[in-house]
Amino acid sequence: MAGGKGGVTVKSARELEFMRRAGQVVAQVKAELREAIRPGITTGELDRLAEVRIRKLGATPSFKGYKGVSSMPFPSTICVSINEEIVHGIPGDRILKEGDIVSVDVGAVVEGFHGDSAFTMSVGDASEEADRLIESTRKALSAGISQAKAGSRVGDISAAVQSYAEGLGYSVVRQYVGHGIGRALHEEPQVPNYGVAGRGPLLRESMTIAIEPMLNTGGWETVQLEDGWTVSTADGSLSAHFEDTIVITKNGAEVLTALSGVEGE
Ligand code: MG
Ligand code: MG
Repeated sequence: MAGGKGGVTVKSARELEFMRRAGQVVAQVKAELREAIRPGITTGELDRLAEVRIRKLGATPSFKGYKGVSSMPFPSTICVSINEEIVHGIPGDRILKEGDIVSVDVGAVVEGFHGDSAFTMSVGDASEEADRLIESTRKALSAGISQAKAGSRVGDISAAVQSYAEGLGYSVVRQYVGHGIGRALHEEPQVPNYGVAGRGPLLRESMTIAIEPMLNTGGWETVQLEDGWTVSTADGSLSAHFEDTIVITKNGAEVLTALSGVEGE
């Protein structure tokens, strides 16, 4: 999920251990969802699979019951957003079909601490345009993570994501941004996917943030659907979303929502 409100993001060693555990739960569930995604499965089936796995791993879904700007709490464990949908899609009866691209956002809480991560993949074979968007969004996240270290500023991450994405001709969603994360799913600071290097809040050691570029093949403008949650591109163009929760260290970032010993998505 994307957002940003109050809270403290610098974590103690003990808190970081809980965040590592939450991150590993999210990483495992993501891997299982990737295996499950295929033509013919419904988004609701993916949601049930995720909830069962999260609970079996001793964690709780972060998003279920989450109150955002919508009057309706988010009803599901994962967000599933298809094609022109950007984020916050509600799982249900919709059947995934060959050539769709699907963005899945997963959050889990362990001992009161959240992990938050998202990926986009094609369902079966997708168009070259779709594959290129997905790969570019994954790399935009890597470009952002590569700028995350103690002493840098949020704007260094933002600028790296934006220049990478726009350099390839994509637009970067403005209205939804990355965020600090910890006891709350959304803490300060906001981590936009656009901005100026050297500006914005200072990154300190043991801060935990979620970086989550959303790239569109068309314009960056968004529309909110009538279900109160799903956000789509205003022009109907394709959108992809990747997110990792990271902890800032002296030398760089430790990705908490990648499977241990595995590099990124
Ligand atoms: Mg998020
Ligand atoms: Mg998320």
